[in-house]
Amino acid sequence: MQINLPEKVSHIISVLKAEGYEAYAVGGCVRDCLLGRKPDDWDITTSADPLSVKRIFKRTVDTGLKHGTVTVLMGKESYEVTTYRIDGVYEDGRHPREVTFTDRLEEDLMRRDFTINALAYNDDTGIVDCFGGLSDLKNGVIRAVNDPEKRFDEDALRIMRAVRFSAQLDFKIEEKTLSSIIKKADTLRQISAERIQTELVKLLVSDSPQKILSLYETGISRVIMPEIDRMMETEQNNPHHMYNVGIHTVETLNNSREWNDRLSRADKRILRLSLLCHDMGKPDCKSTDEKGTDHFYGHAGVSEEIASRILKRLKFDNDTIYKVRTLVKYHDHRDVLTKPKLRRLMAKIGDDLMPLWFILRRCDTNAQSEYKRREKLECIDSCEKLYREIVRDKDCLTLKDLKVDGKDLITCGFKPGRQLGAALNRMLQIVLDDPGKNTREYLLSGELIKELYRETENK
Ligand code: ATP
Ligand code: MG
Repeated sequence: MQINLPEKVSHIISVLKAEGYEAYAVGGCVRDCLLGRKPDDWDITTSADPLSVKRIFKRTVDTGLKHGTVTVLMGKESYEVTTYRIDGVYEDGRHPREVTFTDRLEEDLMRRDFTINALAYNDDTGIVDCFGGLSDLKNGVIRAVNDPEKRFDEDALRIMRAVRFSAQLDFKIEEKTLSSIIKKADTLRQISAERIQTELVKLLVSDSPQKILSLYETGISRVIMPEIDRMMETEQNNPHHMYNVGIHTVETLNNSREWNDRLSRADKRILRLSLLCHDMGKPDCKSTDEKGTDHFYGHAGVSEEIASRILKRLKFDNDTIYKVRTLVKYHDHRDVLTKPKLRRLMAKIGDDLMPLWFILRRCDTNAQSEYKRREKLECIDSCEKLYREIVRDKDCLTLKDLKVDGKDLITCGFKPGRQLGAALNRMLQIVLDDPGKNTREYLLSGELIKELYRETENK
């Protein structure tokens, strides 16, 4: 079996071999190549110790000398070259206390998490497969290298990595590995929020984001995001729904796959985080009327709060938090079938998020019952048509787009501060209703100015 190694990877491997060492491409890159996927990065494993690697290559960075990793720079590219190593005892389920270097490839492969990640390759030897990784790749199986329980005790993050790989590759988790995940899910508590975030996002932007359901089934969500469990335990007896809140949420993620190839990774990340959180407020907002029908008044606002809390807890950046909050807050806004209303919503959501809002609306609607579904989808279509016209016509949506500014109003005698702000805002409202009025002639006409002055005088 052959892999087409990039030229620079081949070069690093042959230079190390010319110096008398062994060297292989290893881990994720070999796995991805064999699956016909493009690897994110290329890692090299070698019998050479880190100081020798540094001596052999002119341009290097000391990435993790203690752990045996030297980054080798080649032109604009960089490659991690790591010495064969055995991971010592893990102190806290997170870090090996010490690593020992070894000159046996098999020992290095043994420290890796899953059989499909424990494959090595170079052009002379071909594939090195000590743990049945090739057959697991062929059969679509995630299986821990050696005893799964011990492996999860060493590093609990592997519990999430297993589910994440199963979503990315659409693989099944092997039985013993799965039962160990269930048994050890609790130990994910030791893992930092940042590392959990990375895995969660990889799962969500994968081609099978609906596999978020496995987080619930394995007991992982109870530890990292109990809000998911609450959704799973909230029924919605309502003609618009046919699933409980949790399964509905999973279905919205499932529906978002339709846009897999049309969205950037960044957009997918925002959309799917928003879908995950959009109904999280429902358990808190549930009420049941005398006919036994469930209602969830005000849930979008509560979902927004919960989303913000979760994303902060998982150490997401402010820009992400802002975008997800916005989409969650307005996810259920349906009364926007006139241009003035839609313009107001666009002003709140912002240009960049509107395309995601329409996708979110569709994913949400298609995960509800069939009751009035056609009408709902037609509404979204009409709304999108209006939206396109508003964008095409470059209608004024914000104060920035107004043809007059604060200076103009001060010249007309308005007081800077509250009065000025109120007057500009009133003008914006007028123009949101009728963009034809966004002209200096109209907005600075004596009559309107007088009226607005009177209205805002006592602000
Ligand atoms: P991706 O790059 O998509 O995250 P990957 O498998 O390449 O997937 P990396 O984090 O880049 O993952 O790690 C490279 C390799 O290092 C893995 O394929 C695996 O062999 C090993 N590895 C990474 N993290 C762990 C871990 N927590 N426990 C054991 N081995 C690991
Ligand atoms: Mg990788």
